[in-house]
Order: sequence, then C-alpha cells, then structure tokens
Amino acid sequence: MTRVIENITGSAAETIETKGAAKVATRPKPTNLYEDVRSLILDIVDKMHLEERYPRQNIVQRFLEPDKVIVFTVYVQRDNGSVDIFECYRVQHDDTLGCYKGGIRFHPEVNLDEVKALATWMTIKTALVDIPFGGAKGGIKVDPTKLSVAELERLVRKYTQGLLNDIGPASDIPAPDVGTSSREMAWIYDEYRKHRTVARGVVTGKPIEVGGSLGRSAATGNGMVCTMMQAIKDLGLKDPTVAIQGFGNVGSHAALACAARGITVDAVNDVYGGIYNNQGINIPALVQHVNQTGSVVGFSGADKLLDDIIAYPCDILLPCALEGAITAENAHMVQARLIVEGANGPVTLDADDVLNDMGVLIIPDILANSGGVIVSYYETVQNRQGLYWEEKKVNDLLYRQITKAYQQVSNMARKQNISYRKASYYLAIDKIARAIIMRGAQ
Ligand code: NAD
Repeated sequence: MTRVIENITGSAAETIETKGAAKVATRPKPTNLYEDVRSLILDIVDKMHLEERYPRQNIVQRFLEPDKVIVFTVYVQRDNGSVDIFECYRVQHDDTLGCYKGGIRFHPEVNLDEVKALATWMTIKTALVDIPFGGAKGGIKVDPTKLSVAELERLVRKYTQGLLNDIGPASDIPAPDVGTSSREMAWIYDEYRKHRTVARGVVTGKPIEVGGSLGRSAATGNGMVCTMMQAIKDLGLKDPTVAIQGFGNVGSHAALACAARGITVDAVNDVYGGIYNNQGINIPALVQHVNQTGSVVGFSGADKLLDDIIAYPCDILLPCALEGAITAENAHMVQARLIVEGANGPVTLDADDVLNDMGVLIIPDILANSGGVIVSYYETVQNRQGLYWEEKKVNDLLYRQITKAYQQVSNMARKQNISYRKASYYLAIDKIARAIIMRGAQ
C-alpha cells in the first residue's frame, strides 16, 4: 500500500510511503468543478469583506484548501486470482464546527480535485444546516459494477485498513455516496471494529441491523422535496410537474416523496436511458421495476424518452445524478421554473448565471440535498446514546431543520437580492469564520 498525506494547513506537507513502494499518486490537473467551488468562495468572501473583518487571519485560505489530503493505493485479489490496483482518496476539508464528515464515492472517474470539491461542499453544507460536523469526502477510482460482491468487500476492507488512523466516531465519519450504500458502510464498520473498541459510530448510513437510523436511506430525497414544497409555495406554482435526472438513492427517494405528496413526476432517466408519461409515472411501480431490472428503461407504464431530460417540458427539474449535468451549453434548453439540486454540483457556475438570467430559481445542492447529512447526524446521536428513534421522529426533526435552513436562505436572498446559492454560501461561511475567530489560532 502506498500512502501520501498532505497536511496543508499544518507546518509542512508530509509524505508517508508504506512498504517502501514507489509513490504512484500524483495530483491531477484541476477540474472545473474544484475551480468553480473556489471561485464562488472567493466571490462570496469578497462581498462579505471577510479579509477586512478579520485582517491577517488567513480565514479565506481555510476555505480554499483542505486540512488534509490522503491518497493511497490498494491491491485487491480478483476472484480469478489476478491482482488489481485501485486509487483511493480521503480529503478532510475543515473541522471547525465538528468532526470531519462526508460520503465515499465509487466511480471510474473519481479524482483528487473532484473529492476536494465534494469535501469543501460538505463543510459549507453542514454549517449551513446547523449540524456540528465539518466537511470531508472519500472515493475510489473504480467501476463497482465490474467487481463481484466478494471483490467489492475485499476492496472496501483494504480501503478501511488504509484509513484506520484517520477515520473514527469522533474524528472523521464516512457515509454512502455514488456507487456505495449501506452494504459498504456495514463492511467498513466491521473492518474498523476489528481494530478499535468504540466503533459503531465510525460510519453513518449503516443498515438498521448494525446501528443505522430509520429514515436515513430516504433522507436526501425527502429533504429535497421538503425544500421543493417551500419553493412551490413561494413561486405560487399550481399542480407542478417534475422531471428527474438519475434514479439512484437520491432520485428514487425524491420521486417517492413527490408521489407521496401528490406531485406528478412525468419524466425520469438514469445512465441507461429515459422514460416519460405526460399523465404522470406510477413511481412505486417504477421503483419495483428498477429493483428487478436495474434500470428505468423498459418500464411498461411510460414511453422511451429520446431527448435530453434537461430540456423536458416541466415546472420542476431535479438533477439527481452527477455533477456538471447543466452547463452554459445546455442551460438555455431548460424549461423548468425551479431546479432543486439533488446531486452535488449538477449546475456549473457559468450555467448558474444563465439560469439566473432566465429567471429560474435554483435551490442549491448544499441546501437541497442536506437531508442525508442531517439524518446522518441523527444516526451519530443515536449511536452515542445507544437509544434508537422511531422513523416519524427522524422525519419530523429533518423537516424542521431543513425548513428552517431554507427560510434563512430565502430571507437572506430576498434581503440582499442575491441567488439562493450565494445566500447559502454567505450564511455558512459567516458561521464558520466567526467560530474560527472565537477558537483562536494558537
Ligand atoms: P447512486 O449511485 O445511488 O445513483 C446515481 C444515479 O444517477 C443512478 O440512477 C445512475 O444511473 C444515474 N446516472 C449516472 N450518470 C447519469 C447520466 N449521465 N444521466 C442520467 N443518469 C445518470 O447515487 P446517489 O447516492 O443517488 O447520489 C446521486 C448524487 O447525489 C451525487 O451527486 C451524490 O454526491 C449526491 N448526494 C447523495 C447523497 C446520498 O445520501 N446518497 C447525499 C447528498 C448528495
């Protein structure tokens, strides 16, 4: 295993190589995603006069660079006896308000800049919705669909071994993200508990049987739809229709939450293709179809969607797949009046400007998809208490917490005449900056 650690806010960058292996991980070129996050932060801190308020404190730098970057490789035996190498990441961005917190992504395109961007968003998101966590993110460059279950388990256990001294119930708590689920969290917990006595809270998003919280798997979709209902009221939309890009954890639970509130979902897609029915799709039946076949494609209650779902004629668009789905090139095709970002970073910064000019209201990811981390926090509390809550209590608390955050953002946006995204960053950065100053830098 090769391991490279950068303590960026520490005195000097540190490199650790285990087993004497050669350093294989190099920093990829910056992607637009990470540059987008940094440039938005710079814009906001400038408007907040953060430097002038706290002169010579280097506060801005704390938002621009993560505290620690861990890059390592693991070697995993395939079922046929051959050995494959996998690139692994964990980025700990900031822990001013509480221990590091953020999901683990399995995707063939995972790279360091993407993980850094996602970790930065976690810091901003947890501050915005008022939970005592910081921000982190992890990932492995892998296509999980190409590995058997046994191979995936070996990979997850190796990844956990590589992070034994970095993650923990009081230091850094991973959770599921794209390509991972409660199953992977159970493996991480099990591997970690072989080495540490207090282990249950090391990850959230666990199966109920090993200390998970009721309501966690649906929480991101449920939270999104809470914010969507608020915005529907604010915009005065009557009988709105919805299109959803991506039908994984977030997209499918958002669809179910829409259906439960009588909101019609007319179009849905996933990585394999799309479907539509302008009389409304039967969502519970679609979920059953996806559970059986692995895709929305071929669902009998809808027609095949040939066009880009971004351009689907609907009132509300829920991008719930991956980042960069709506760019300056395709933003003009959007027909919806409201976008609720289920995915992290689905609207690029330049597309954001185009859509704002078009009068489209965007509920930004750091607010809209915060339900997952909010209920992750409730899971941590339940693990610490050793006392488990009913689902209704979880959902009621989630509803209250995310609605409060929505109202703060919407008030700030109205007062300052800025977008919901900028208002969200403003509120979160201000909260963290004040805490940094109160804690002192000694
Ligand atoms: P997932 O792996 O469960 O689902 C992803 C879905 O997107 C799948 O249906 C996949 O087929 C689809 N998809 C991928 N590429 C696509 C494309 N080009 N076009 C259309 N569909 C495509 O992942 P998830 O957990 O649902 O996460 C989705 C997004 O939400 C990610 O950006 C993630 O970071 C974010 N998010 C997830 C959570 C959570 O609790 N899972 C919390 C906050 C944010």
